[in-house]
Amino acid sequence: VPKSDASPKQSEDLRSPICCIMGHVDTGKTKLLDCIRGTNVQEGEAGGITQQIGATYFPAANIRERTKELKADATLKVPGLLVIDTPGHESFTNLRSRGSGLCDIAILVVDIMHGLEPQTIESLNLLKMRKTEFIIALNKVDRLYDWKARRNSPIGMTLKKQTKDVLSEFNRRVTYVITQFKEQGLNTELYYKNKEMGETFSIVPTSAVTGEGIPDLLLLLVQWTQKTMVEKLTFSDEVQCTVLEVKVIEGLGTTIDVVLVNGVLHEGDQIVGPIVTTIRALLTPHPMKEIRVKGAYMQHKEIKAAQGIKIAAQGLEHAIAGTSIYVVGPDDDLEDIKEAAKEDMQSVMSRIDKS
Ligand code: GDP
Repeated sequence: VPKSDASPKQSEDLRSPICCIMGHVDTGKTKLLDCIRGTNVQEGEAGGITQQIGATYFPAANIRERTKELKADATLKVPGLLVIDTPGHESFTNLRSRGSGLCDIAILVVDIMHGLEPQTIESLNLLKMRKTEFIIALNKVDRLYDWKARRNSPIGMTLKKQTKDVLSEFNRRVTYVITQFKEQGLNTELYYKNKEMGETFSIVPTSAVTGEGIPDLLLLLVQWTQKTMVEKLTFSDEVQCTVLEVKVIEGLGTTIDVVLVNGVLHEGDQIVGPIVTTIRALLTPHPMKEIRVKGAYMQHKEIKAAQGIKIAAQGLEHAIAGTSIYVVGPDDDLEDIKEAAKEDMQSVMSRIDKS
């Protein structure tokens, strides 16, 4: 394993916001993530179904580069964006970080040709229940009849190039989707017309095939989170860390894939989850790759939030997705932390039993 001392550079004292992608099957969640990531995981998966959970970290430099055509004053205060690839709503309900949602913001994907579908409404209800902010990606705009694609373009620029007929079809479908959301008790509006963000949810038209609208989506995610969630995104000394997956890896034994939501983890930290153990290795994939992509991991002495991390340690066999990992600090009482971990585990287990 190649060594690196790289912990992500923090600008000011904000951590990266964490974003989930949700929505009905086949709306383009996987494709959208691939498109943002510039890789092609979807093609490698059976039937294109997302079966695993992963996280991708987008450094601010990458976001700045991709949004430059928007010429917005893209003052990025956050060091980057961490995107969780959520396969379905079940994992989303189990994944939270100590009582609150794991994600700071979600992208709710809706197919412009289909409008709201049953799982869109399920996702919506979950988001409401968890009071999670979200942005709607109205995907597959390239499927509108006679659409002229302009690859990776901001949506405003590409709409200017469309014929009257395409525009009127676009507007008709957008209006229909807005009406459907209204029926669910939600005000929504195209993001560039939205004057009351926070009360009215924003719609970003996108295409995961041509990349149109992706710059808008990235910029909105970052600007909205850093503007409205300063407190939540302020870097803290207290570790908040949630288990995504428990996996056996050759040469490493049982490892856990976690999302470090806040705080810092160090090699050698004493942690409490299913048992009390010590972090043997903190591993990350290389930038712009997903945690589940095979290949050499980078090893770190310490990692600052927010990041998707693989932890190697003794005795992780009994770890459970959705539970928290606690770090024992110099002034902490180990028995108290063991008790908290036990309660956390029981509450996750009871939720799994119910679903
Ligand atoms: P998921 O089930 O929500 O993850 O959906 P996928 O990402 O697997 O996409 C479902 C199908 O829609 C695939 O065949 C994709 O290639 C296609 N698709 C996704 N996004 C777009 C898009 O923006 N435009 C077009 N034309 N097809 C898309």
